[in-house]
Amino acid sequence: MQETNNTKKEQKLFLLAKQARENAYAPYSNFKVGAAIESQAGKFYAGCNVENVSYPVGTCAEAGAIAAMIAAGDKQIKRILIIGDGKDLILPCGACLQRIKEFGSHETEILLADLQGIQKKYHIEDMLPIGFESLE
Ligand SMILES: [Zn+2]
Repeated sequence: MQETNNTKKEQKLFLLAKQARENAYAPYSNFKVGAAIESQAGKFYAGCNVENVSYPVGTCAEAGAIAAMIAAGDKQIKRILIIGDGKDLILPCGACLQRIKEFGSHETEILLADLQGIQKKYHIEDMLPIGFESLE
């Protein structure tokens, strides 16, 4: 039962991230990325990359999803899914791993997907074993 419930939530995350990816603003790299968060409270948030002609000003999909979660008054990431359609799966950048850690727990999962579906699952501590700890 638990497994079925998780599978449904993962599918919802996948579809949300895929949909957000379609709206990504990526005219410079032509590389669209989507992300979706399931919070500990059971709510869902999505984000996409938003590039800028001044390259460092652009933001990652994960940052957009986290900003949507915070704007809604939510704070704890249960799992986050990142989707792209490159040759390799999209990994969160170092800054985004630290962003995820800020609002995650030891159990926070990072799911990597391509357009066909979820391909890999990690925990935040697999990808960022030593990061800055939140002050909370
Ligand atoms: Zn990033």
